[in-house]
Amino acid sequence: MRSRFKPWASDLIDSHPEIVIPKPEEKKGKWQEVFDNKNPLHIEAGTGKGRFITGMAKANPDINYIGIELFDSVIVTALETVLEEENGIPNLRLLKVNAKKIGEYFEKGEVDRLYLNFSDPWPKKRHAKRRLTHESFLKLYQVVLPEKGEIHFKTDNRKLFEYSLTSISEYGMLLTDVSLDLHDNEPEWNIMTEYEEKFSKKGQPIYRLEAQF
Ligand code: SAM
Repeated sequence: MRSRFKPWASDLIDSHPEIVIPKPEEKKGKWQEVFDNKNPLHIEAGTGKGRFITGMAKANPDINYIGIELFDSVIVTALETVLEEENGIPNLRLLKVNAKKIGEYFEKGEVDRLYLNFSDPWPKKRHAKRRLTHESFLKLYQVVLPEKGEIHFKTDNRKLFEYSLTSISEYGMLLTDVSLDLHDNEPEWNIMTEYEEKFSKKGQPIYRLEAQF
């Protein structure tokens, strides 16, 4: 999609195919070649402006990261963050695609961990299928993650969190960690997302879970 608000965004994205990979389906099963190493691959679906994924990639150079985002207007900020770094962020790539097509871009078991951060809540019942923790999405994630592959999920939205706990449990996944107030005793490894900073500044609790297939 071309951004209505940042008409220059798609041109900047198109001029950096080494960072925002233009035809990711051609890289399916070949991400180790793209990164030129065999490090684990962690992806984030719904990366937004990329504060989390760029922060994680800088903090963990031995892990490869891919941020997936639908819109030019936000993913372009993640791209700008990479470009501002003197040597770029070599262990990070970005995909401007829909997470529901994840199986077209990654081979079975090719992804070691999936992050979902402040996913759109889609509060209306009739839109439940669009929630990134809906059973239909869990099915897609299960294919690209290995046995015991993990999903890490953060949100400020209590209803979405409750829904996700149920959806993940009913799917048969094992909940390995649940926090109802991540910032009460914030772990030193936590990297805040844009939304996380916004909502925690307002005093809202941040919910977090880790689950394993
Ligand atoms: N993760 C960021 C954060 O925590 O600050 C952004 C959160 S924002 C509420 C949700 C983002 O997910 C939006 O940028 C939206 O465009 C993106 N998104 C929603 N559904 C998506 C999908 N199916 N595939 C890729 N991105 C998606």
